[in-house]
Amino acid sequence: MTLTFTTEPAVPLPAAERAELLASPGFGTVFTDHMISIDWDRDRGWHSARLHPYGPLVLDPSAQVFHYGQEVFEGMKAYRRPDGTVVTFRPYANAARFNRSCARMAMPELPEETFVEALELLAGTDREWVPEQPGCSLYLRPFMIATQHTIGFYGPSAAYRFMVIASPAAAYFTAGPKPLSVWISREHTRAAPGGTGEAKCGGNYAGTLVAQEQARRDGCDQVVWLDPVERRWVEEMGTSNLFFVYGDRLVTPALSGTLLAGVTRDSVLALADELGYRAEEGRVGVEQWRADAESGALTEVFSCGTSSMITPVGSVRSADGGWTIGGGVPGPVTSRLAEEIAGIQYGTRPDPFGWVHKIA
Ligand SMILES: *Cc1c(COP(=O)(O)O)cnc(C)c1O
Repeated sequence: MTLTFTTEPAVPLPAAERAELLASPGFGTVFTDHMISIDWDRDRGWHSARLHPYGPLVLDPSAQVFHYGQEVFEGMKAYRRPDGTVVTFRPYANAARFNRSCARMAMPELPEETFVEALELLAGTDREWVPEQPGCSLYLRPFMIATQHTIGFYGPSAAYRFMVIASPAAAYFTAGPKPLSVWISREHTRAAPGGTGEAKCGGNYAGTLVAQEQARRDGCDQVVWLDPVERRWVEEMGTSNLFFVYGDRLVTPALSGTLLAGVTRDSVLALADELGYRAEEGRVGVEQWRADAESGALTEVFSCGTSSMITPVGSVRSADGGWTIGGGVPGPVTSRLAEEIAGIQYGTRPDPFGWVHKIA
C-alpha cells in the first residue's frame, strides 16, 4: 500500500519571529508551521495522509484515548549539518519500535516507509526550523491516538489518528555537561512483567510522575527505576537508559521486558565496541552499584536517550543514603561516547554503521 500525502500549506511565521524563537528554543514548547496527520479506520485502513498547518485538534469528548489511554509515541531528532543538509538518526529503528508499541497496545501498525516519509515531508517542508547552533536540533514527535467515539470499553478503538509534530530543541548542555543527580525509587515501580514497560505509550509516563516529584523534592534531577519484582536490579531512568563504566568495560541492564529498548542504548553498545571498549548487557544490583562506586571500581555512569543524549550521572540518592560516582564529574568514556555519537549525527565524524538518513 502506498499513501499519497496531500498538502495544505500554512501561512509561515514571519522569518524574524522564527529567528527569535530559534535563538533560544528551549525544549518542547515551540512548534513548526506544519504537522502531519494520517487516519485509520476498519473499513479504509490508513487514509487521508496530509501535511497541514499546525493547530488544535477537534475531537469528540468520548474519543477513546481520553478514557482508556490507547496512545503510543516516538521521539527522534533532525540535525542540521555544516553543509546545510538535514538528517535524522536511525529512523527505521524508531519506525520498528513504534510498530512494536502499536502491537502491544492493540493498535494498527503503520508501514515503516510511511512513518519515515512522514518525517521527511514534515522536516523537509519546515527545514527553516532546524536550528543551526551547535548541539541544537529539531525534535520530531510521531504519535497515535484512539479516536473512536465511545466510552464503552468493548475492545480496541475502531479508528485512530497518527500525527507528527516538530519542535526546535536547544542543546541539552549549554555550558558543558552537568552530571545528573538521581533518585532511586524504592516505593514505586515503573512497569511489571507482562505489562507495557517495553512500549512507548503515554500511560507509562503518567504513572511515574509521582516518583519524579519525590525526586525533585529530594533535590534530584531524575528517577532511577528498579526491577518490579525484587526491587534490586537497576532498570532505567524516566526517559533514558543507563550504562555503568568499569574502566574500559561497559554494562547496561539487559532488556528484561520491563524497560524501554532505547535506540541510543543500542547505538552506544555498537559504538563502544567499535571504539575498543567492551560493552555488554547484564544485571547491575543497587547494592553493587553503591559498593563499586565506593571502592572506585565503577568509574563512570551515564544515561542515554534521544532527548538528553549522553549525560553523566554524578550522584545517587535513595531513602537509605547516597553516594557519588567518580568524584561527581564527567568521565572520559562518557565524554568520548558523547562526542562520537554527536559527531556522527552532525556529520563531523564518519558514520561507520550507516545510521544517518538524509531527509532534506
Ligand atoms: C524513549 C525512552 C528511552 C530512550 O530511547 P531512545 O530511543 O534512545 O530515545 C529510554 N527509556 C524510556 C522510558 C523512554 O521512554
